[in-house]
Amino acid sequence: MKSTVCVLGAGRMGSSIVRTLLAGGHPVQVWNRTRQKCAPLVELGATLAASVEDGVRAADVVIVNVLDHTASDALLKQDVVAATLRGKTVVQLTSGSPRLARDEAHWVEQQGGSYLDGAIMATPDFIGKPDTSLLYSGRPEVYERHKDLLLALGGNTQFVGEAPGQASALDTALLTQMWGGLFGALQGMAVAAAEGLDLRAFESHFTAFKPVVDAALYDVIGRTHARRFAGDDETLASLGAHYGAFQHLLEACEERGLNAAIPDAMDTLFRRALATGSAEDDFASLAPLLH
Ligand code: NAD
Repeated sequence: MKSTVCVLGAGRMGSSIVRTLLAGGHPVQVWNRTRQKCAPLVELGATLAASVEDGVRAADVVIVNVLDHTASDALLKQDVVAATLRGKTVVQLTSGSPRLARDEAHWVEQQGGSYLDGAIMATPDFIGKPDTSLLYSGRPEVYERHKDLLLALGGNTQFVGEAPGQASALDTALLTQMWGGLFGALQGMAVAAAEGLDLRAFESHFTAFKPVVDAALYDVIGRTHARRFAGDDETLASLGAHYGAFQHLLEACEERGLNAAIPDAMDTLFRRALATGSAEDDFASLAPLLH
């Protein structure tokens, strides 16, 4: 028998979760601060919960997907709601930090419930697809108990660790890499535009350069994991070679008056490493400076 799910939050992501669960045959209770957002979901077969506690009481599993943990706390940590959590599983899909996940796991278990912390590595349009990845951490037996339900939200769903904060930590780690790329693209386009280049040139040449960048990324990940920081025959470019090319970015910012906040931060790290005489080392030798 399919478990009954209560979804708290019918924003972009919450609505997609509800639609996917309904399509998978799960009975769904839905609650949202503004009720109108639930109307299209009720039309699809969800039951509108009159209150948070009513929705939780009627469900086996409570999926929370609201803006942030402050909003989530305001819903779950009301006495009337806390009193209904005994025997329920709370799956927290609101983005949060490892500390928030740890605190919440502790609190839910104090109420007699089970807790899983989740990170959604996708946008709402990807929910329910076979390759979509959601990461979970918490008690493995709770994950196993609800695995079928969780897999309905993304076929590449993974359990990443027993410490409740590990899914959020991996989420933050992967997003950090994404922000590095996004900020890098913005800085690169500023340099290109300052020299009168059409940004379509940046776009098309990026496509050709990207496999090289991806290979360098995997290389730095592998070397850092293996702590192979000294330059060797397989080093793609030494720290000194990187820093030589990096001077052209600093010069372009200076000459064209571009915002250099990001390059300046990178320059600080390069200089700190090079001050120890590591010009021949691999780029991965910067890794210890970030700990
Ligand atoms: P959204 O703005 O579309 O929806 C936010 C929801 O939070 C709404 O249902 C709103 O009613 C509710 N809410 C806000 N403040 C509240 C409060 N004080 N009390 C009760 N409810 C409150 O946002 P979204 O894109 O659906 O994101 C929801 C969560 O999912 C966030 O934590 C977000 O980081 C996470 N997430 C989103 C995406 C994405 O691509 N949209 C991807 C991964 C994770």
